[in-house]
Amino acid sequence: MIVKKYYLWQSSTWQRLMSDKKRLPHALLLRGQSGIGKLDFAISFAQALLCEQVNSAHQACGACPSCGWFEQDNHPDFRLISPEQDVSKDDEVSTKSTKKRTQIVIEQIRGLSDFLSLSSHKSDGLRIVTIHPAEGLNAAAANALLKMLEEPPPNVIFILVAHQAHKILPTIMSRCQTIDMPVPTTEDALLWMKQEGIQSAEILLSYSGGAPLMAVDEVEEGVLASFEICKLLSFGAKSDIFQLSTACLVLGMENAINALQKWSYDLLLFHFTQKVRYYQNQEGAVKKLVQQLNLSQLLDFQKMLGDAKKSANHPLNSELQLERLFLHYTQIFK
Ligand SMILES: [Zn+2]
Repeated sequence: MIVKKYYLWQSSTWQRLMSDKKRLPHALLLRGQSGIGKLDFAISFAQALLCEQVNSAHQACGACPSCGWFEQDNHPDFRLISPEQDVSKDDEVSTKSTKKRTQIVIEQIRGLSDFLSLSSHKSDGLRIVTIHPAEGLNAAAANALLKMLEEPPPNVIFILVAHQAHKILPTIMSRCQTIDMPVPTTEDALLWMKQEGIQSAEILLSYSGGAPLMAVDEVEEGVLASFEICKLLSFGAKSDIFQLSTACLVLGMENAINALQKWSYDLLLFHFTQKVRYYQNQEGAVKKLVQQLNLSQLLDFQKMLGDAKKSANHPLNSELQLERLFLHYTQIFK
C-alpha cells in the first residue's frame, strides 16, 4: 500500500475531519459516486490517524514505523474488509476468474473479533477497520457488523465506504456519521488526470460521467477500443454486424455491453435534449442517427442490452448474442 495523499478535491473534507480528530465518532460512512477516490481517502485517512508524526497538513509522514507497515500492507492496527479479499474457501472462484465476488460475508466480519478484542499495538492506540463497499455486506454480515457498532470497542474507528448508501441497513447508517464525499469539478478532475499522464483525458472523463478514477481504470479496460466500436455503430442501419461482433468479443462482453449501453443512452438523450453525455467526440454522428431514429426500437434495444448484461459474466454464446443485438440495432434506424 503506497502512501497516498487525499485528492485535491477532498482537501476541505480532510481538513474538517482532521481538525477534530480527537473527537471522531466510532463509525464514519463515506458515501458518494464510484470513481471519485473514496477508498483512497479512507485508507489515507487511516494511515494519517495511525501515523506517529503527521505533518502540519495532517498528512501521514511516510517514514515512521506505522507508515512502513502501511506500505507493506500489514499494519497490525488496520484492517481492510472487501469482497475480493475473501478467498479462503471455494477454489472454484479462481478458475472462473471472470466472476468477481461482490459480497462481504459473515466470516469476514466474525474474523474481526480477535482484532477488536486485542489491545492496539501501541498502548494508547487506535485500531481502524475499513469496509469497502459497505453495500457489499450481505444480510448476515451486516447484522454481525451492527452488533459491533452497537457496542463499539474502545479506540476503534470503523470507516465504511459506500457507492450506494441506500442499500445499507438503516440501523447501520444511524450508527455512523455520514460524510458526503465531494465530486471533483471538471477542471480539478482534468488537472489530476493530466498529472497522471492520461491521454485523451477530456473524452475519458465525460465517458466516465465525471469520475476521474473510473476514467483512469477505463484506460485499462480498453475504453478507447470502445470508441472504435462507436465508429462502427455510427453507420446506423448500415452497420457491419460481423465486424461489430468481432470488435466486441475482443473488448470482452462486459465492457462491450457497457459501451453499447452508453451509446444507446446518448442516442436517447440526444433525441430528447440535443445533448450527449458519454461520447462527446461522436456528437455529430449521434445527431445524424437520431434523425432516423425509431424510438420504440431503441427502447427494445436497451432492454436487450440489459438482459445481455445479466449474462455477461457467463456468456455461453456471446457471438450469437452479439449478432442478434446488432441485427436489432440496424433496425432502430429508418
Ligand atoms: Zn508516519
